[in-house]
Amino acid sequence: MLAGKTALVTGSTSGIGLGIAKALAAQGAHVVLNGFGDANGPMAEVAALATSGGQVAFHGADMSKPAEIEALMQFAAQRFGQVDILVNNAGIQHVANVEDFPVDKWDAIIAINLCSAFHTTRLAVPAMRAANWGRIINIASAHGLVASAAKSAYVAAKHGLVGFTKSVALELATTGVTSNAICPGWVLTPLVQKQIDAKAAAQGISVADASRQLLAEKEPSLQFTTPDELGALAVFFCSPAGNNVRGVAWNMDGGWVAQ
Ligand code: NAD
Repeated sequence: MLAGKTALVTGSTSGIGLGIAKALAAQGAHVVLNGFGDANGPMAEVAALATSGGQVAFHGADMSKPAEIEALMQFAAQRFGQVDILVNNAGIQHVANVEDFPVDKWDAIIAINLCSAFHTTRLAVPAMRAANWGRIINIASAHGLVASAAKSAYVAAKHGLVGFTKSVALELATTGVTSNAICPGWVLTPLVQKQIDAKAAAQGISVADASRQLLAEKEPSLQFTTPDELGALAVFFCSPAGNNVRGVAWNMDGGWVAQ
């Protein structure tokens, strides 16, 4: 379905981004991966699923740095012509009450979880407009729709990302370019494992009990959403059925925000 299209997924060496990259590769898209840590393992995982001659490339831009983001966008355009599907996924978390929140963590969360989407989008839109086809998919969060204590930077960034998604969707509403957000609940990735481990240590309980407690606090389904499920939703946004889905913030969260 996506043969000949190029997808750039930021923060795709792990977790949700890697799951979405795999799903898009399986539909035939070329995929540009990005992120920290080992790139060869994720590249091999994505390449193993590629169809229709889809190729995989990697660029290690730090998404908190606008100049590196520009280099990433140039790399993708030089390698594959242009970015047709932009998945803004890179993100980090820090948990602390506002009066204790480290200023450098606040700045990093806003830069990576929110500002990076502005930079990639502003650089991707001209070619998408020219082609009259494009998909911008922003990985927000249930925390883009509702708040939790001790996550002020993350909640601010994710609410901002949902607003950004809608504004861009309106600017592009008469074109073939759509902009939408996905709002996952808990997904068992390194980002959440850190929070589970901290909970277990703070309460002197097992990691399994901490994991059950984390789910029970927020998710009526008591189940984690998976990167594969989120990948399938991203593929739907890229399908012809997604042509007129514009500016949504689609929660896949086990009922979290339905409460
Ligand atoms: P993860 O830690 O598994 O993956 C994060 C990815 O971002 C990694 O590839 C990492 O290398 C990359 N990254 C981090 N900082 C970067 C930077 N400065 N530049 C480039 N890459 C960087 O986390 P995840 O859970 O897969 O999270 C992915 C996205 O999903 C994030 O935006 C997160 O906020 C969002 N999200 C996660 C959950 C969850 O429960 N895990 C829920 C809702 C939303």
